[in-house]
Amino acid sequence: PATESKRLRIAMQKSGRLSVDSQALFTSCGLKINLREQRLIAHVENMDIDILRVRDDDIPGLVMDGVCDLGIVGENVLEEESLQRQLDNDSFDYTVLKRLDFGGCRLSIAVPQEEAYQGPAALEGKTIATTYPRLLGRYLKQQGVNARIVTLKGSVEVAPRAGLADAICDLVSTGATLEANGLKEVDVIYRSKAVLIQRKDLTDSKQLKLINKLMPRINGVMQANESKYIMLHAPRAKLDQVIALLPGAENPTMLPLAGNDSMVAIHVVSSETLFWETMEQLKALGASSILVLPIEKMME
Ligand code: ATP
Ligand code: MG
Repeated sequence: PATESKRLRIAMQKSGRLSVDSQALFTSCGLKINLREQRLIAHVENMDIDILRVRDDDIPGLVMDGVCDLGIVGENVLEEESLQRQLDNDSFDYTVLKRLDFGGCRLSIAVPQEEAYQGPAALEGKTIATTYPRLLGRYLKQQGVNARIVTLKGSVEVAPRAGLADAICDLVSTGATLEANGLKEVDVIYRSKAVLIQRKDLTDSKQLKLINKLMPRINGVMQANESKYIMLHAPRAKLDQVIALLPGAENPTMLPLAGNDSMVAIHVVSSETLFWETMEQLKALGASSILVLPIEKMME
């Protein structure tokens, strides 16, 4: 087969909690995609890449089976699929290229609010509803607890009220859904973020070259997201104190100000933002025109 001419296939969630951020990441990396059409495959206009838009549950399998070369998926879904495939003696190989800065959530045990819960032993003999039977099963085994697991694809949070389960194991980000259903989060069993994964047996040199081009861009976007460009005017007499307040500013850029010898302009790229408290302290030292700007891209 003409593997040389194969376009790189990347799987992303079609619609849901990861799709907006996944798409934004591709766009920030310079991929020109027309996702307005409701197509399964979106052609990237300016690179040899196709974007496959699927249910998030399908992404680990597509990568593990080599149908897609890369994929963006939550670690929770990835780990669940890996455990399932290990039990089924199926292939479950992949490489994590990057842990991303979105899709953060936790997989937690929750019980009815009125229940006294003193640790996982309280689950002995109980019925627990979840969408993640393998992750939950692993946890219960580690804890030495025997419980019955009921697998539900949706509406897990209503299972206790519906009399289907005594407890649930579900994804939580704020806890509002749990509270609305009369439940309380009692144990976190897994912390998840979105990850970029690659299939294990990728050897095509053109595709590898493309990935080597994408990765510094992804790193650059993520670094830029958490960095700020800070500018201010500072009194020469207080320079040491001013610089000591700036996060990560060992060697800031200093520029003279036209017509003012007592002040200099300081520019610095910081890996952190500048908090209001620090800005007030700088101001108290005589600094002025303090600006904190977002950075779009960076390359070191
Ligand atoms: P699909 O239709 O693609 O199967 P879905 O309903 O299974 O979508 P979403 O609810 O869109 O999935 O969640 C996708 C992923 O987003 C989750 O697997 C998880 O990794 C992450 N996520 C982040 N925060 C939350 C949250 N509060 N609840 C659920 N998932 C979350
Ligand atoms: Mg899903």
